[in-house]
Amino acid sequence: MDSVSGDLAFLPLGGTGEIGMNLNLYRCGGKWLAVDCGIGFGGAELPEVDVMMPDPSFIAERRDRLLGLVITHAHEDHIGAVAWLWPQLKCPVYASPFAAAVLRRKLTEAGLLNQVKLHVIPVGGSFDLLPFRLQFLRVAHSIPEAQALVIRTPAGIVLHTGDWKLDPHPMVGPPTDEAALAALGDEGVLAMVCDSTNAMVEGHSGSEGDVRRGLSTLIRDLRGRVAVTCFASNVARVESVALAAMDAGRSVAVVGRSLRNLDAAARECGYLANIPPFAGEDDANDIPDENLLILVTGSQGEPRSALARIASDTHPRIELGEGDTVVFSSRVIPGNERAIGTVQDNLVRRGVRLMTDSDHMIHCSGHPARDELRKLYKLVRPKFAVPVHGEWRHLAAHAALAQEIGVKSIMMEDGDILSLAPGVPEVVDSAPVGRLVLDGARLVPLQGGVMGARRRMLFNGVAVASIAVDEAGRLRGTPRVTAPGLLEPEDPDLVRVSSELAEALADLPAPLRRDDAALADAAKTVLRRALGKRLQKRPLVDVHVLRV
Ligand SMILES: [Zn+2]
Ligand SMILES: [Zn+2]
Repeated sequence: MDSVSGDLAFLPLGGTGEIGMNLNLYRCGGKWLAVDCGIGFGGAELPEVDVMMPDPSFIAERRDRLLGLVITHAHEDHIGAVAWLWPQLKCPVYASPFAAAVLRRKLTEAGLLNQVKLHVIPVGGSFDLLPFRLQFLRVAHSIPEAQALVIRTPAGIVLHTGDWKLDPHPMVGPPTDEAALAALGDEGVLAMVCDSTNAMVEGHSGSEGDVRRGLSTLIRDLRGRVAVTCFASNVARVESVALAAMDAGRSVAVVGRSLRNLDAAARECGYLANIPPFAGEDDANDIPDENLLILVTGSQGEPRSALARIASDTHPRIELGEGDTVVFSSRVIPGNERAIGTVQDNLVRRGVRLMTDSDHMIHCSGHPARDELRKLYKLVRPKFAVPVHGEWRHLAAHAALAQEIGVKSIMMEDGDILSLAPGVPEVVDSAPVGRLVLDGARLVPLQGGVMGARRRMLFNGVAVASIAVDEAGRLRGTPRVTAPGLLEPEDPDLVRVSSELAEALADLPAPLRRDDAALADAAKTVLRRALGKRLQKRPLVDVHVLRV
């Protein structure tokens, strides 16, 4: 896995074969480089999981040869795991000014700000982590300062695109640097490791400039209170909403923590310079309804978000009702349909009017649709295409598109080690991969015992019995049984199960009763059977044996 010098390999530990949790590794001459370190969400498939991230063990074991972690942009799926996983990596981090501003806030919360060597690289800047010579290239995306990473090595050049799109009018920052990409193509690119999110979407992703006009036209004609929800990190969109509000004679009040944080990071880096400071939620009620625009978090229906609380009328300060409007300047991320539906239902029940991108030009994607992918391949002309940042069907659609225009594609997923040079690129080996779940304030393996038990408890409940026995294993008193999430504490079945347990234990052979582990195992079997018979479920069971 750590072979000869002069070779070049790519290994994604997260984000390839799935959307979210990007963690990419490159190896050259025995040294490693990490690109991005993000989180993902459990969603409907993993109800026991809120936030999760890739297990970095493979690279943590090699961190003496890990030169650094480069961040392409400040989206959570690229930056959100740094504060959690850095203690295992302990390497310098390289980011643009805006990504660094976002990261500093996260590191401060984690108490790591003084430990992490965070190098701020100017937008479009170059730096060397030899044998890797690195250069950022500006791309348009739904956040400021998104950049592709050019990785020059003695074994060849890789373009790691990060998330990107082609947008002639991105509104914040310049368009994707097509001239630099074409020049890179002239230099000769061995492999392009590229965003697949919208590889199944025909045409073009649309322009932020059109969204700006759409929002302005829409908001101008609204009466009553107006609330707009969008991703906090989409600074261009936030600016468009603010300009539309000014146009309509409304002041903007920001509601929700992520919007306040991103607003501060953006202004710190010189963005939103022409937009007056936003009011806070405390000031919103002092502004007349017709002059107020509430910019609010929760476009994905997150149950604890400000919008979800406003919709269920549990927000401490903000109310919406009859005659008010909520504008969703966002798309439905697959998996969030139900959660968004609940929020929208609650709003409509209160008499609030909804406006979404299904009937208004108020959103566009930050990822390239098929026409943009074709254009990029024509500019960069890589020898090999490596689709990443997508589920398997997105990767396959992307690979087929590249093949159509004559670029050989390599399909791989998390844990595959792709040798890019010397010789013909192919997957030659694999590295262990896994996921870590953020459970409260600690990380636990998704496939480990703790989360396994959590899943079992979630669906089947848990039963715990305590039995006191003497040296010979004779029962003292009655076994105590509880089954939280399964039976009420006063349920008579608990007493019946307890006596069944007492009878069964009395019948056990004497030598077995003297052995704690054997006694506990026998008791678990009885408990499982007794509850299974009554409830038709297989709860997680546990038994405490106390020798008295
Ligand atoms: Zn992404
Ligand atoms: Zn992104």
